[in-house]
Amino acid sequence: MRTVQVAVIGGGAGGVLTVAALLGTPVHEVVLIDPEPGRGLAYGPAEPYHLLNSPARSMSAYEGEPTHFLEWCRGIEASAGPGDFMSRARYGDYLSETLGVEEAASLGRLTLLRDRAVSAVPHAEAGMVVTTAAGERVIASHVVLAVGQGRARRLAVMEPVRHDPRYVEDPWAPGALDGIGAGEPVLLIGTGLTAIDVAFGLAERGVAGPIVAVSRHGLLPREHTRGAAEAVGGLVAPEPTPSLAELTRRVRALADSVPDWRAVVDLMRPSVDRYWRGLSPDGRERFVRHLARYWEIHRHRMAPAVADRVERMRAAGSLRIESGAVESAEVAPDALSVRLNGTRRFGAVVNCTGRDRLTASGDPLITRLLADGLAAPGPAGQGLDVAPDGAVLDAAGRPNSALWTVGPPRYGHLWETTAVPEIRLQARQLADRLVTGAPLGV
Ligand SMILES: Cc1cc2nc3c(=O)[nH]c(=O)nc-3n(C[C@H](O)[C@H](O)[C@H](O)COP(=O)(O)OP(=O)(O)OC[C@H]3O[C@@H](n4cnc5c(N)ncnc54)[C@H](O)[C@@H]3O)c2cc1C
Repeated sequence: MRTVQVAVIGGGAGGVLTVAALLGTPVHEVVLIDPEPGRGLAYGPAEPYHLLNSPARSMSAYEGEPTHFLEWCRGIEASAGPGDFMSRARYGDYLSETLGVEEAASLGRLTLLRDRAVSAVPHAEAGMVVTTAAGERVIASHVVLAVGQGRARRLAVMEPVRHDPRYVEDPWAPGALDGIGAGEPVLLIGTGLTAIDVAFGLAERGVAGPIVAVSRHGLLPREHTRGAAEAVGGLVAPEPTPSLAELTRRVRALADSVPDWRAVVDLMRPSVDRYWRGLSPDGRERFVRHLARYWEIHRHRMAPAVADRVERMRAAGSLRIESGAVESAEVAPDALSVRLNGTRRFGAVVNCTGRDRLTASGDPLITRLLADGLAAPGPAGQGLDVAPDGAVLDAAGRPNSALWTVGPPRYGHLWETTAVPEIRLQARQLADRLVTGAPLGV
């Protein structure tokens, strides 16, 4: 049994950024709990050809030190520039090295507990008691959930083939793509950044395909600007209005008035959260149905080198993008038979639709928090129900002053909460609030 000021559960980007922010305050003792701390989902299983979708200038681990990542890159490659798109594997190296440096410099204030947390319950006096799978118990004044998103989304339409080895439900599981045969057509469900990563992974494994990527709209992410800086001085974000149509009109008009529409999209990021928070449940549903996909493809963009490779694969016919919906799937003797714009046979099908709701993850920690009424699903079932400062709300809607969140668990309350710039700011504000009692700066 150990007693600490803050226990951070989850050691991916969210956990590392939170620890880095906490150690910049006069915190007494922090424990970071994760079986393999330092990389997480996005920066762990990445291959060298998987690039960040944000330039180096925006990926620092420290709020207020914007060039930290860039300078770290320059230690490896002197010519690294602020607009370069580094590999995600390199970013994973950066995160784990940052964690190592923080641990060494903390003089014992930081402990890494390489284990899974299975429960967090209120402590009799104050704070919470976290128990790990190996039976370790940690009493913490504050617990921060940096557990990321749920497991891969489970698609009802794929249930009949779910246990067939030719269906890959989670493309990020270790070795997930290794069993896919070189000469077989492959279906990717989804046309976002995950589908592109998977298409590259298959091409690297010699799968000639054709690879067919499908989504309702058949839209690919847009491309980042080549070279030139994207920011445009003097721009003011359009004031969000209750009407989706009016907001879209204003954004279009502003985008038409500047040399590069990307500046407007980046400027809109904080306003989108404010707008989302102000919507009624019906309005949120309409946003998800009509606008979300368009926002995502403009907001989460491909690095230019990634866009070039996509174009080359499309031109060669090895990658096809289609619009449509999978209507059914069944196991055939030598393939998976899929109804999608007609009945078609694929040697493999890969689910590239992203992660499921956190509350459906089946993770013992989250399941127990929900069962104890200490947490509840967030708006529209996304993430956890949280206060604006990230405090977890219990089943009765009361904030828990000992249980907090950073990153994807805030999804639902926030729309933009998964990228490093957003998580970094949340980590800084949370550290200030927990340790110094500073009010929230948003
Ligand atoms: C493929 C991909 C590419 C991305 N690329 C970019 C990009 O280029 N730029 C950008 O800004 N953002 C990017 N993102 C978004 C963002 O950086 C990631 O979502 C990031 O992974 C979020 O970090 P996280 O720590 O919250 O979650 P995760 O990375 O999922 O990490 C969560 C960690 O918590 C651990 N954990 C979970 N439950 C427990 C438990 N009960 N006990 C102990 N440990 C637990 C997990 O093992 C994991 O290590 C990308 C995301 C993905 C998926």
